[in-house]
Amino acid sequence: MRQSLAITVLLSIAVPLASAERLQAGAAQSAITPELSGRVVYLAGFGHNRVATAVHDDLYARCLGLGIPKLTLVVCSVDLIGLFYDDVLTIRRAFQQKTSSAALLIIASTHTHAGPDTLGLYGPEAFETGIDRQYLEWVDQRIATTAEKAVGAMQPARLELARDDHPLLAMLQGVDRPPIVKDPFLYVMRLVARSTGQTIATVVNWSDHPEVLGRKNTEITADYPHWTREYLEKKLGGAALFFSGSIGKVSSLGDQVALTDPETGKIAEDGSWRKAELLGTGIGRLAERALKNAKAVNVDSLAIRTATVFVPMSNPNFRVAEAAGVFAGRKPLYTNGYPDLATETRELPQLGRLQYATGHDVQTEVDYIQMRSDGVPLAEIVTIPGEIYPELVNGGVTRYPGADYPEAPIEPVLREELKTKYQFIFGLGNDEIGYLIPKAEWDEKPPWLKNAPQPWYGEVNSVGPDAAAVVLGALVALTSRP
Ligand SMILES: [Zn+2]
Repeated sequence: MRQSLAITVLLSIAVPLASAERLQAGAAQSAITPELSGRVVYLAGFGHNRVATAVHDDLYARCLGLGIPKLTLVVCSVDLIGLFYDDVLTIRRAFQQKTSSAALLIIASTHTHAGPDTLGLYGPEAFETGIDRQYLEWVDQRIATTAEKAVGAMQPARLELARDDHPLLAMLQGVDRPPIVKDPFLYVMRLVARSTGQTIATVVNWSDHPEVLGRKNTEITADYPHWTREYLEKKLGGAALFFSGSIGKVSSLGDQVALTDPETGKIAEDGSWRKAELLGTGIGRLAERALKNAKAVNVDSLAIRTATVFVPMSNPNFRVAEAAGVFAGRKPLYTNGYPDLATETRELPQLGRLQYATGHDVQTEVDYIQMRSDGVPLAEIVTIPGEIYPELVNGGVTRYPGADYPEAPIEPVLREELKTKYQFIFGLGNDEIGYLIPKAEWDEKPPWLKNAPQPWYGEVNSVGPDAAAVVLGALVALTSRP
């Protein structure tokens, strides 16, 4: 058996500033809503063949450039189900052609379940792609242009940091699979122009699947983050950017998330626009409230560390999907850290003869950023290339009867490795490799966890049981460097 591999490439830059007043920030946004007339747009999330019929609210790419001299960090939030690492590399190439200074560009998808299929998994039927290549190429370029505009808009800025641990936040998250662990924390960052005192941008980071509208909806929408952003932009000005956090198995659907409509005194109906509005506005209010007690900080250096990681691909459905062209030529496989184009011919039911890629790993990336003052870290940003289960972030991985790997080692707990009070975790950051599930809870074979009568949902959307250990191991290596 080949050994699972994690090659790590580190890049660490810390540039101290002569003056604490040289932090710069700029924001930009562009609509990325697909054109519906004259084409079929498959909506992503849930199942197959959900065709968009109208646009309820526009989808956006919103980018924030944050810089100190000679070093820029650009974070973009995009209203999409996900982008693959291949897209992120394409976007970075386009962005770097237009930018002179050293910059790290992070692109995180909000994971809206009411946007176009940019992964390919949600086409007319199984193993038939839902990708519109023309749209994908257009959106990649548009994100690059938006990132460039954010850099162009940078001006001297102050930074405020805030967080909220309000118990209501956990009540807005539904979890059906044991253990019932959530990641309720809300993190907020605001950049204010030194010259005018006006808000440049507000960054909100919270964890809940943007899928309030459910599988019956056929209108394009950014889902609840649309209302979070609208609320904050109205109240504070500037651009509001929403980043989904530890959203693995965490859902806004169903009765667990019950929001009372103040106009009717009744619980807003599941799957309704009103529920999305109440959830989004509620998160906006809590973010605004957190900012009232924000800590103003002088950031004088950024430490940026990135690692390329190779995650063993053990999901046969993903291999078949790739072979059937679902991913539109993306997601090449690697072995021992190098591209591995080897295939074998396989006869698959209903699909016929396919060239089935035999490489070992998928390539992805994790990033870790510290914002520092006088060498002291004040805030951190972590990227997770998929949908991480909250127990991997907050602790609480549990051994149940029925687990496929009862002796599996427990992965490191992410928040225990972080150093500051302000821990931004950007889920679907630079990639979407699916669910990151603790190996000790992995369960593809009966009996099912806790002797449940049927399988739990999750493994089908994961690259495999070792993904979490590889991703978290690489992040621990980044966080533990001095
Ligand atoms: Zn999801």
